Amino acid sequence: MADEVFRHDGYMAVFEAGVVSVKGDEVVLDCTAFYPGGGGQVCDTGMINGFRVTDVHYDGKEIVHVVPGNDLTPGLRIWGEIDWDRRMDLMMGHTGEHLLFCALHRQDPELAITKIFIGPEEKYVIVNHDLTWEQIDAALDFANKAIRDNLPVRKTVMNRDDPDLEKVRIKLDRIAEDEEITVVSIGDIDYSACSGIHVMETSELGMLFVDRKVSAGKDGIAIHFKVGNAAQDSARKLANICLQVIDEANSKAEDIVRSVANMKHDLALAAEASKAMVKQQIQNLEPKTVNGVEFYTGMFNGADRKTLTDAADKFKSKGGVVAFVSASDSVSVMIASGNPKVDCKKLLPEVLGKFGGRGGGKPDFAQGGIQDTSRTQELYDVLVDSVEKLLS
Ligand SMILES: [Zn+2]
Repeated sequence: MADEVFRHDGYMAVFEAGVVSVKGDEVVLDCTAFYPGGGGQVCDTGMINGFRVTDVHYDGKEIVHVVPGNDLTPGLRIWGEIDWDRRMDLMMGHTGEHLLFCALHRQDPELAITKIFIGPEEKYVIVNHDLTWEQIDAALDFANKAIRDNLPVRKTVMNRDDPDLEKVRIKLDRIAEDEEITVVSIGDIDYSACSGIHVMETSELGMLFVDRKVSAGKDGIAIHFKVGNAAQDSARKLANICLQVIDEANSKAEDIVRSVANMKHDLALAAEASKAMVKQQIQNLEPKTVNGVEFYTGMFNGADRKTLTDAADKFKSKGGVVAFVSASDSVSVMIASGNPKVDCKKLLPEVLGKFGGRGGGKPDFAQGGIQDTSRTQELYDVLVDSVEKLLS
């Protein structure tokens, strides 16, 4: 088995080694600093003798380096160099994950990890249930204090019967009876069973920041975080977006959450009132009579579809013809007919086509719409006119 340098030195970026075997693109060395990935952290990339290393993974107990187009041969001495910026970012991210979970767990002792992902573009931990942004803020306070306190990050090996093992976050059922357990500690605030690679001191993280949380389906909630410069950039950008929202809402930072909640509440009330008004309007709707046929028309902005559909069905069933238009973000049109002279399926696409819109349905009912709300009145007039022509 190769000497796995990263197990005892996470900071060695350049190393010398001998080639053990080469099978096409796949190269095995007698010693390597390339981390093959594990525990949710993606693998290192880099160069071997000037050839790009695109992937590194375990095949059984062997570490395989994928080096496309290489000219390496067994027995050759090589220089390996890992992409240091990427490695450092991944080590910081991985150590950040330990610190973040430890801090979140202090806010909610029932919290458990279901999945971890540490990559250059994305870093997240999926936990079994949701946390409030207040809890996350308190956790980040704790974690960033630990970063400023520059706590040591240490790796020790424990036996299964070590009494200190009870302090350790660990899934014992995943570890064989006779296996030694590698424990990574952050100062005296966190002990976790882990065989991954970490930075040596918390100050190397610079900053830890959570910038997103999204549902991860049955797995729980994905908490996305950033470390170092990426954390600073993300925090600054998000703060600027918040400041724009505060300006737009004419509010103060300390009031903005309540202001937005109030706005949402007011909007919901207004929408309810508007729906009720439309319902009332429709109940009182008087048809005009065209050639003996009752023709119901109206523009109902903010109406919900069901109210309009129910009314259209009712009027149609009595032999009437219906043309309803409602505008919000776009313009919706609904026509219904209980009279053979008006074929909705034929008429609606003809009318909407003149306005760059689309629609379809059956001879007795069709719906569709156009994007341009500034043409609502014009569309309504053409629609009413077309139906009247067919009836007369
Ligand atoms: Zn770890």
